[in-house]
Amino acid sequence: MFLAMNEQHELINAKEATRNQKFYCPACKQSVQLKRGRHKIAHFAHLQNQACDSFSEGETLEHLHAKELLFNWLKKQNYPVELEAYLPNLKQRPDLLVAHLAIEMQCSPLTISRFIERNQGYLSHHYSPWWLIGSKLQPKKHQFRSLVKSMICYHPLADFYFYGFDEKQQAIIYYGNICWHYRKGYYYQSYLFPLQSCSLTTVQLFCPKKLAPFTWKEIEYRFYLQHQLVNQRPYFISLQEFCYLHHQNLLNLPAWCYQASCYQVLFGHDLLILRMLYLQSVNFKQWLQLLKSFPFTWEYIFLNQAKFLVSIYEECKKLSEKIRD
Ligand SMILES: [Zn+2]
Repeated sequence: MFLAMNEQHELINAKEATRNQKFYCPACKQSVQLKRGRHKIAHFAHLQNQACDSFSEGETLEHLHAKELLFNWLKKQNYPVELEAYLPNLKQRPDLLVAHLAIEMQCSPLTISRFIERNQGYLSHHYSPWWLIGSKLQPKKHQFRSLVKSMICYHPLADFYFYGFDEKQQAIIYYGNICWHYRKGYYYQSYLFPLQSCSLTTVQLFCPKKLAPFTWKEIEYRFYLQHQLVNQRPYFISLQEFCYLHHQNLLNLPAWCYQASCYQVLFGHDLLILRMLYLQSVNFKQWLQLLKSFPFTWEYIFLNQAKFLVSIYEECKKLSEKIRD
């Protein structure tokens, strides 16, 4: 953290702090140490093994540097940016606050429950959280960490996206055009916004052109599923067991059930089950009722689940009717 309280209860920036003084964490009030040296970014740190809710992540150099870069960037654009502003109603402290925009730079793993809690705090007090992931959390080999998945946002013109920050290149990263393929997982394109040449509005209004969605042959997806079952992959076996409960077979659904869809970004192979349950229901209400028996997780805090379920139901209707024609 950059700001700590001195004994006179004044907030002091680590850059201007004088040594031989006592400093305290503004959130948990425990004493903190001033860290400053030739090769260090001046900051305050809790003593090891001190628990603090507001600064729980043990700030890395990357985090401190990113926070500083973003602060200067916003200041240069004349935004009323506040560093580590403490929001007492929420007992939360975003890295940066610009009016009602709470900016959080996430450099290390955080549990989903904690992530959801923090966002609920913001949203219920009319703050819009904006999360940027650091290098450790960047997607690797077509896989997204659950925490990153839960940061996915949606815009009808751009589909799914989330943000990151590249501290070395001093640039905001927009991860967009996210799609999913049954074989490998996620595909995406990243767009770099160097702080030097881009404004906050440029970043926020950015909307990449939609790419043509994936397509594949139904039979190939079915063959892939068969292969997973032969190899006893537990996840696929559980899907098959769920199908059996409904007198269906994962490998024997109507062809349209295996078609590619943008909603696989959210559900992956689970979309097969949503489609299978469509076959079992006469209307939307009954489908929703059946869905309750399927233990899918929904950790997309920024997405409206009800709306997406309506769209998925509509898609099932369209795909199944198309095949029938
Ligand atoms: Zn603290």
